[in-house]
This record gives sequence, C-alpha cells and structure tokens, in this order.
Amino acid sequence: MGEVISPVDGAGIGVVPGCSVEDVDAAVSRAAAAFETWRHVAPGDRGRLLRRFAAQVDAHLEELALLEVRNAGHTIGNARWEAGNVRDVLDYYAGAPERLTGHQIPVPGGLDVTFHEPLGVVGVIVPWNFPMPIAGWGFAPALAAGNTVVLKPAELTPLTALRLAELARDAGLPDGVFTVLPGRGSVVGERFVTHPAVRKICFTGSTEVGTRIMAGCAAQVKRVTLELGGKSANIVFADADLEKAAATAPYAVFDNAGQDCCARSRILVQRQVYDRFLELLEPAVRAFRVEDPARETAEMGPLISAAHRDRVAGYIGGADVAFTGSCPDGPGFWYAPTVLLAGSPADRHWREEVFGPVVSVLPFDDEADAIRLANDTEYGLSGSIWTRDVGRAVRVARAVESGNLSVNSHSSVRYWTPFGGMKRSGLGRELGPDALHAFTDVKNVFIGTEE
Ligand code: NAP
Ligand code: MG
Repeated sequence: MGEVISPVDGAGIGVVPGCSVEDVDAAVSRAAAAFETWRHVAPGDRGRLLRRFAAQVDAHLEELALLEVRNAGHTIGNARWEAGNVRDVLDYYAGAPERLTGHQIPVPGGLDVTFHEPLGVVGVIVPWNFPMPIAGWGFAPALAAGNTVVLKPAELTPLTALRLAELARDAGLPDGVFTVLPGRGSVVGERFVTHPAVRKICFTGSTEVGTRIMAGCAAQVKRVTLELGGKSANIVFADADLEKAAATAPYAVFDNAGQDCCARSRILVQRQVYDRFLELLEPAVRAFRVEDPARETAEMGPLISAAHRDRVAGYIGGADVAFTGSCPDGPGFWYAPTVLLAGSPADRHWREEVFGPVVSVLPFDDEADAIRLANDTEYGLSGSIWTRDVGRAVRVARAVESGNLSVNSHSSVRYWTPFGGMKRSGLGRELGPDALHAFTDVKNVFIGTEE
C-alpha cells in the first residue's frame, strides 16, 4: 500500500507509506508534550506564527495547487482557490488568540470569570474530496485556540497535507504542534479515536464512518465535530429567473466532479416551468467543459478513482437519463455530467448521495410540496432557492432543514461564516466566529473577596 495514483491518467505519482499504530502513539506523545508549551505561547506570538504559516502557504500557492491537480484531479482554478482558502483561514484565525475572551459575571462575595481553555491534542481526519480546505478548517482554529494537532489525510490524497506540514515547520511552528500522519482510516483514524490523549476528533467524510467515530468517541466522552454527507435540493420556483437558475445549476452540482458534500444533486422544479427549465439546462450541461484539469479552461476533471467511478456508474442502470455532457476518453477516471429524471422520490439516485457528476430532477406543485420533498432526506447540509418573491424566499429558507442555504445563488462556503449540517449531515459548525469554541472548553473560576 501507499502508492499515490493520479486520477487524471491513472499514473503512479509517488509512494507514501502509511503510519502504524506505534507511529501514531509516538506522534500523539510528542503533540501532548508540545501542547504544554504551545498553550502558553503569548497570544500575539501564536497569532504571528499562524500569519507566518499563512504567508508560507501564499508563497507556495501555485506549487500546492499543481500538486492537487495531479493528486486529486481538481481543476487548476479550483485548486488555486483551495490553497488560497488555507491561507485565508489561517489569516482569519491568526486574529483569534488575542480575542479569545471570556466573561466576567456578577456574583456576590467575589469575582467570577470564565476562560476558554484549549482541549489538548486534536485529531483531524480529512477526506479526499477537498484535501486542503478541509484540513485547514480543522487545524487553523484548533491551533489558534492553543491546541496541538495530529492530522490524517485520506489515503488517496496525502500530498498537499504533507507539504502543508513542511510549510508549517518552515514558518517556525514548534515541533509537535502540527503533525501530518498519512495512513489508513482503520489504523491511523481509529487510533485517534481510541487514544486517550487525543481530546477531540474533527471528522469530515461519509455518514457511515462518522457515525462509527461518534460511537467510538462516546466511550471517552471525547469531543467531536462531524461534517458528513449531503443530498441538497436546488428548488426552482416558476417565478424565478429561469435562465440564470438553469445556467448556474450545473456548477452547483458538477463542480469538483460532484464530489462535494454541498452538491445540489436534487433539482426540484415547479411543474409549470419544468419542461422549459430542462430545455434551458440541456445546453448548459452539454457545454460544461470536462477536460485535463491542468487547463485554465477546465470546469471539471476526473473522478478520484476507478472504484469510485464504478460506484457512480452503478446509479445509472435503469434510471431515466435526460441528457449528458461529454468527457475525454482514454486513461483517467472520467465520467460525463449526467442528468436523470426521477420517477418518484423513492428512486435510489434521488435518495442516496452519489458523490459524482449526476443530478436528479423532479417536478413539484406548490411551496408546501417543495418544502416537503426537500426535507424528505436524512441529510441537511446545503441547498438553494430560486424565486423573485422575497417573502417566499425567507419562508422556504426557514423551512428547509439544512445548515447552509442560498437564495438566487449557490454559495455555501465563506471562511468567516459558519458551515455545517443538520440531521445526519453533521454535528457542530466549522469556520466563522464560533468554530473556535468547538476547540475549547469553558472554565468558570470564582475568586472569593470576603475578608
Ligand atoms: P470515508 O471512508 O468516510 O473517509 C473519510 C476519512 O475517514 C478518510 O481519511 C478515511 O481514511 C477515514 N476513515 C475511514 N474509516 C475510518 C475509521 N474507521 N476510523 C477513522 N477514520 C476512518 O469516506 P470515503 O470512503 O472517502 O468516501 C465514501 C463516501 O463518503 C463518498 O462516496 C461520499 O458519499 C462520502 N464523503 C463525503 C464527504 C464530505 O465532504 N462530507 C467527503 C468524502 C466522502 P481512508 O482514506 O484511509 O479511508
Ligand atoms: Mg471509506
């Protein structure tokens, strides 16, 4: 094991040996020792080190982006954004150490104050779909709050995380503060869960593994943040700007080849504009540029692996294919954007997270019907609402059980706003002003002042 494959052409691009349980234990011991000094580094100095780390990422942005194009098949445009996102998240949380203030609460007979204490060693477990941003969303706030971090990248995509660890060291982060441990989920990831000195798990990945991790953490009452799957709805009302809704819908689901937990993979269209919407959607899907992701014009690259492509293809058999886009032939794990018509909400491709460039379309009758269908899923991560009626936009946004909604747009992730899921899409929130507190515990101290 350990060979890293490029999904662009199936070629081997390096060998990364996996860590053993003993390797993890040794790294956690170093991280626990480093915590005792890192937590006492003056807030301004901790912030300065994180800003230097951000500057290192910025100085190596193109190198990191090209590494991700090769290792994960991301388009060069996306990969640059992803490396820039790591820089921005580090810069954002670099401002946190001096602002991690508690309360002073009025009490009789003394002074009562609260502190946000760091937890200790935090274990971050990262999936293969967005290796750089998801790593940064975990390690940046964790480090800013005074924790040390051990991080496991996905087996398929370890290269950028390993490079980020080198950049952290070059920025001057002390030894043991941020350690990247490649290897298998069942070895390295599970050891993070069972090791008593790892005080929190920050996990992004499948709902299945996340559920298992939460159960494992329960044994030690270990803190846990989970970002899991999604099956998000893109709801298009008859009064919407249909041209814009149709032109943008492919980007909302086919970006990153649909390997995005926020993918709007269910399009709900009000019945009276259903045919018209599909007419507008077809040319947008056919024009979607699926090509060598290193090209500046690429809008989509390959899927992550041959096995994943088989899994995605498994959803198409027996389904009603409306139309597809195109993709290159030859080596590489290519899959063309595909639009399916759902016969009913019971269809497997309507219910399950495909995690590929496949979108299902279903008509609805009225607002209540749209909300009912949108919420008829175990997931609740993101979603979009297209309408010109402001009142309806607000009503539907409040009614859809989802952590991140956008109206007349498909935005979902900004590093300074909270991100996370409802229902089985997750637990807790990342990014924004509150994420820091997911990496601290509140301590209350009373100081008696009576003579
Ligand atoms: P996954 O199995 O949940 O993997 C996510 C991370 O967890 C990887 O680093 C993985 O390591 C690790 N892991 C696996 N088993 C573990 C365990 N028992 N204990 C601790 N860590 C463990 O996801 P996947 O297999 O890559 O993808 C499967 C499906 O999950 C996708 O098709 C998609 O539906 C969903 N998914 C969702 C997201 C998201 O952003 N919400 C991201 C990725 C996948 P290894 O790499 O070594 O397996
Ligand atoms: Mg897995």
